Amino acid sequence: LRDRKLICQIIPFENRRQILVTHDATESARIEEMRRDFIANASHELRTPLTVIVGFLEIASSTPDLDPVSRQAHLSLMTEQGRRMQRLIEDMLTLSRLESVDYPLRPEPVRVAALVEEVLQEARALSGGRHSVTASVDGPDIVGSLEELRSAFGNLASNAVRYTPSGGTVHIGWQGGDGKSTGPQFVVSDTGIGIDQHHIARLTERFYRVDKSRSRETQGTGLGLAIVKHVLLRHRATLTITSEAGKGSSFIVTFPGP
Ligand code: ADP
Repeated sequence: LRDRKLICQIIPFENRRQILVTHDATESARIEEMRRDFIANASHELRTPLTVIVGFLEIASSTPDLDPVSRQAHLSLMTEQGRRMQRLIEDMLTLSRLESVDYPLRPEPVRVAALVEEVLQEARALSGGRHSVTASVDGPDIVGSLEELRSAFGNLASNAVRYTPSGGTVHIGWQGGDGKSTGPQFVVSDTGIGIDQHHIARLTERFYRVDKSRSRETQGTGLGLAIVKHVLLRHRATLTITSEAGKGSSFIVTFPGP
């Protein structure tokens, strides 16, 4: 019983006897702790940009003759921080929707070739020509939520671009499974910075980041892979991550077999 949280209650019973009721609260305590962590992390993430915005607003209001160059610099920093808050809130809302029981999966036939093309164009736009971004499609269409899959695949592809230095390559692929236990697979591989083994198991936790400053610099919220995990859970798909620090990573989504 070590490491378990038990709630014990002694209830008086007839003839001066007593009943001992125990309840194993380990799981609910763990969920409660995760919720507390999430709120603390989210508040901290929102507080940082807000501090910058309020700081600049105070400077602007106490310096009426602020020169136009500084004024412009302050305005663009505030816009950047405001956008960061918007991204965070969007991702937090997406996550809470994905977890809600009132938000069932709405499956529809998904034309994967069109979806991969969309993800490819987005990744190329994000790269701005700094990487070679390619795609291949060689697998069947599937049934799922187009909106959710767009978000999961898009997150994986944008991570590949964001964590790959200029000059690297990113490949996005859709392939058929083995026709038995393995269904179709969506694969994103990159020649980027890679991930040390001991981080891999924790990557899909909310706000878990190997390098906070790099994530921020590239407009990350730390929630992308948590969103991916939830979308995949809802589609009964799994995520396999293989990576080598300094060499690159592969993220493989496997859908259920036929
Ligand atoms: P973020 O917004 O920080 O990118 P994610 O949840 O998408 O958050 O990813 C969590 C962390 O996983 C990232 O901060 C980064 O450290 C690591 N990561 C994700 N994808 C890759 C990748 N393709 N290459 C290297 N590291 C990655």
